[in-house]
Amino acid sequence: MDKNELDVEILDTTLRDGAQTSGVSFSLQDKLSITQKLDELGVSYIEGGWPGSNPKDIEYFKAVKSLELRNSEVVAFGSTKRKGISSEKDPNLNSILDSEVETAVIFGKAWTLHVIHVLKVSLEDNLDLIYETINFLRSHGLEVIFDAEHFFDGYKEDPDYALNVLKTAEEAKAKVIVLADTNGGTLTHEVDKIVRDVKGKVDAALGIHAHNDSGLAVANTLIAVVNGVKHVQGTINGLGERCGNADLIQVIPALEIKMGLRALKGFRKEGLKYLTQISRYVYELLNWKPDPYQPYVGEKAFAHKGGVHVDAVLKIARAYEHIEPSLVGNKRELLVSELAGRAAVINEALKLGLKLEKQSEAVTKTLEEIKKLEAKGYSLENADASIHMILFKNLGVKTNYFEILYWMASARKDQETLESEGQVIVKTAGEISYAKANGVGPVHALDQALRKAILKKFPTLKEVELLNYKVTVVDSGRGTASYVRVFIEFGDGKRRWATTATSDNILEASAKALQEGYNYRLLLDDIRNGKLF
Ligand SMILES: [Zn+2]
Repeated sequence: MDKNELDVEILDTTLRDGAQTSGVSFSLQDKLSITQKLDELGVSYIEGGWPGSNPKDIEYFKAVKSLELRNSEVVAFGSTKRKGISSEKDPNLNSILDSEVETAVIFGKAWTLHVIHVLKVSLEDNLDLIYETINFLRSHGLEVIFDAEHFFDGYKEDPDYALNVLKTAEEAKAKVIVLADTNGGTLTHEVDKIVRDVKGKVDAALGIHAHNDSGLAVANTLIAVVNGVKHVQGTINGLGERCGNADLIQVIPALEIKMGLRALKGFRKEGLKYLTQISRYVYELLNWKPDPYQPYVGEKAFAHKGGVHVDAVLKIARAYEHIEPSLVGNKRELLVSELAGRAAVINEALKLGLKLEKQSEAVTKTLEEIKKLEAKGYSLENADASIHMILFKNLGVKTNYFEILYWMASARKDQETLESEGQVIVKTAGEISYAKANGVGPVHALDQALRKAILKKFPTLKEVELLNYKVTVVDSGRGTASYVRVFIEFGDGKRRWATTATSDNILEASAKALQEGYNYRLLLDDIRNGKLF
């Protein structure tokens, strides 16, 4: 991997610092899926976790090896070694070696307050720990990115010591030395001045890791780059402890589009198009509503409502837009016109190899149907298969290879047992079949019964796996009778697709999304075999 072609390299820490956000918990599958999306985006490094701090991260480093990544290198995070124990015996360092990464990110203390009162070692010992840790990992063939924790606070109180920490890491041959504003309290003009001071005194490549407690993480990151920093750390949607980290969704387009700096791998600016998608994908996995006003990627980031604005934008878009929305995969929303929606439908059809005219009836009907479903609480942006199925239906293509005529799902608990059962009656061309199965819960039982009923007729569906199942409450005012949205991601080893459905019955929404997901795969098979077009 050649990172030299980049002006600035990006280290994404959504899976490590982002996972420390209050209210955020990623499953192993979530972490792997996000890894794949970050690779498509083209970040240089993906900080996958802290193997020394939790078992889920150890599992992740094992599992991530089976992913084929094109652009990104997965790196492990950890602390400097403990005092009074040899590097060889330090459990934290060993878990980094066990994770078999080529690069480790090591954080060490740069603020005397932390060294004396938190770590409780002497200032000299802290420098030794930093040197020994980096040296040990390098002697095992790893590259080390050194995060100087609390660097800015440390520099303000004792600049000589903070600089000594950097120089120690430099002597130990850390590849990049990252200046961290761990408490997020530093203001932009201070970052400006301090980075310039440091630049004159340290030769190693510098990085920036900014937190957002003052609302300045993005600004602080950019001013550091202006001053020659070549490595930027942040997270998708600015996830992170307390008020979060620098939001890469804002940092990346600022670097690439506005500052003309190459920050993403892959063809120039290609990855930028994934920004909106990856932002919403992470929200979907978290069951969070995307922020409609998020810069660059929010649904309303390019919405023009006032008559004067709409008129001006139609004449010349730059009149009220700071960038062309499609550069970051977003779209303009003109509230008096549906042009943008038509373009989006045509774009989806193109992905399936179909060329449609802007005024064609299928486009009109698909658009109407999407609007109706979205009014009912559907969120179709990430559910590509659901959109394609609507489109196919309106093109007169048969989309129901099978149909669930009846389903029943139940769960029962008594003193000894907890069990769930599902039953379905399915109609395929001219045939009715019935199946029944047990499952972990009623949704799983229903899926098991459904698979039993359709696999005999459609054996290729054996390859289909359910990768993710998420339930989001659309209207929470009704407690346990709330209206919910189910989102299911399917995969068959080669492709992934997703469906969504809503209902005030969670099983009904699940059954609809399952039926659509399996039918979609059958439709793809027919397209691939040239049976449809
Ligand atoms: Zn942090």
